[in-house]
Amino acid sequence: MRISGIRCVEYVGALPADRPFWDQRLRRPVDLYPEYADRGPEQLVRRDDGTLEVRQLFLHVDTDEGITGTTAVLSSDQAHLLRTTLRNTVVGLDPLAGARVWDIAYRSMIHGRAGAGMLALSALDCALWDIRGQHFGVPAHVLLGGPTRDAAPAYASTLGDSLEPDAVAARTKELRALGFRGLKWFPRWGPNDGRAGVRKVVELVETVRAAGGDDLEIMLDAWNSWDIPFTVAVARETEHLRLRWIEEPLLPDDTAGLAALRDLVAGRTQLAGGEHEYTHWGVARLLRHAPLDLYQADPHWGGGISEMNRIGALISAAGRQFIPHGQSLQCNAALTFSASPGLIPELEYLLRLGPLYQHFLADPIRPVDGVVHAPTTPGLGMRLNEEAIHDVREL
Ligand SMILES: [Mg+2]
Repeated sequence: MRISGIRCVEYVGALPADRPFWDQRLRRPVDLYPEYADRGPEQLVRRDDGTLEVRQLFLHVDTDEGITGTTAVLSSDQAHLLRTTLRNTVVGLDPLAGARVWDIAYRSMIHGRAGAGMLALSALDCALWDIRGQHFGVPAHVLLGGPTRDAAPAYASTLGDSLEPDAVAARTKELRALGFRGLKWFPRWGPNDGRAGVRKVVELVETVRAAGGDDLEIMLDAWNSWDIPFTVAVARETEHLRLRWIEEPLLPDDTAGLAALRDLVAGRTQLAGGEHEYTHWGVARLLRHAPLDLYQADPHWGGGISEMNRIGALISAAGRQFIPHGQSLQCNAALTFSASPGLIPELEYLLRLGPLYQHFLADPIRPVDGVVHAPTTPGLGMRLNEEAIHDVREL
């Protein structure tokens, strides 16, 4: 089999909604500057008919045997590099020989070893797993030795939810009733909010604990936006509330800071990170210099499903756990259901982005009673829902 073409296609559809898509956004590192902190979420465009416009870029990798592998959702940077650099490199190669394609693509694009280039290579790698699964007529996790179990728990990431206490309490109860056993929240406050900011974060956790009960797992994602004193204060003042972890409190390159922080919060909560790390070499450096409790590399960003397998082996050998970041449920299901539950105990489900990123898919993955079942569709299960597609534009 040969790769015969690479297409980046924009699909346009609509989402019925009587209110803006986002109630809140996550805190970003640049929010340290007040003129950026004040900016609200970037909302989906509301169309004349009242619906919200959904516009997403997909990668389709075509083969000379009629099988097409698909990955979604791409950034415009990813799409550009796929259409230019990577297309010229990989058209004509055998998509079944994925390790060879990965190595050739990586070696041909040395500036692409991180950032947008690695995101592009990651999308290509995931699409090749989709091709291989379809070729052999099995889900991608079966190619990797799965299923290791029939179902895995999913924790809910509340990215985009209101942080007003009444709304937080109501949402927590609603999600508990849906069967979620763990909730991750995204505080907007950080170091520039001083003591009041710490207090707001503690209040958030208090609200979730009170509404969710003793058995709920509670996590916080600081999205690279805190510093050591702020994180230590939050860990210290939420100790009695039993936070399961604090995620990405510092900038991803600050491995010395992460190493220091891990000692400072040890015993109070766990430190999670690695969502913005690339390749097994990057995660190996992180493991060496800033051993975290939990790693969260993303198959769509950090090197694809192939690279996540190598990363999983490194994390396992270091005695830590791995919950891939939840950009693609299809890719994460391939990894989760081919890994030991001891290494990948659960999946992340982003309550708003999960459905949005699967808007154009015919077989979306959705947790039921807080668990995701092992997919049975061949490849990654990326069949398109033609009814959701109102317009198509190939780049
Ligand atoms: Mg995160």
